[in-house]
Amino acid sequence: MLYIVPTPIGNLQDITLRALETLKSADVVLCEDTRRTQILLSHFGISKPTARYNENDPHSITRCVELLKNGKTAALVSDCGTPCISDPGWRLVKQAVAAGIKVSSLPGPSAVACALAGAGITGGAFTFLGFLPRKPGKAAKLIANAYALSVPVVLYESPYRVIKMLELIAKTLGEDTPLIVARELSKVYEEWLRGRVKELIQQFRTRSKMQGEFVLIIDRPAAEAEKEDEPNPYF
Ligand code: SAM
Repeated sequence: MLYIVPTPIGNLQDITLRALETLKSADVVLCEDTRRTQILLSHFGISKPTARYNENDPHSITRCVELLKNGKTAALVSDCGTPCISDPGWRLVKQAVAAGIKVSSLPGPSAVACALAGAGITGGAFTFLGFLPRKPGKAAKLIANAYALSVPVVLYESPYRVIKMLELIAKTLGEDTPLIVARELSKVYEEWLRGRVKELIQQFRTRSKMQGEFVLIIDRPAAEAEKEDEPNPYF
């Protein structure tokens, strides 16, 4: 049995009771980074064998699948949030399913859901692109195609590249594109910035150092967002 277990994205109190129970009862915890997971397990007083799961190493995946085939129960975790969401895990899940192993996915923290819920922009559809490719041309194309669907577009970005990404958004969709930036969600310095992309670029340029983790939400043009007053078909 393979359990997919989300872990906190910034506040250890966000672990669910079920996640803790699952970690306690599993035979092994499959980790993106065993040292980071060990810190989490120790914090909750859980002593459990861990094994590294390396998505890019076919042998690693095979070893994990063999373990499951031998009847072991494994809990798959990543360094933060939900495994498989811009994190390792999907190849293992795919191969486990193919091998007839039961997979259960626990609900829990994920930066995309957390940011969207606090954005106050939609109760319905969105497009999640995760981390975009490094090549500006490819990234711009993905942004433009996603935005053409007329739903908010959600991106993950590192502090080192966030200004560059905002500049690319401005170039691709226009400087007045409305944007929400959620930084350091559920951490002490949680911060929300809202405005046109050109305003946010200016604001970030005044900072001496960019720090933290970022979720960028590209909102629809104001005229389209206004239509939100119409009855929502989703509920
Ligand atoms: N699996 C994780 C999830 O479910 O959200 C995502 C892991 S991905 C490697 C890490 C990226 O998620 C960060 O670069 C950032 O874009 C976003 N992220 C994670 N934690 C965050 C936080 N506390 N605040 C804002 N963004 C966060």
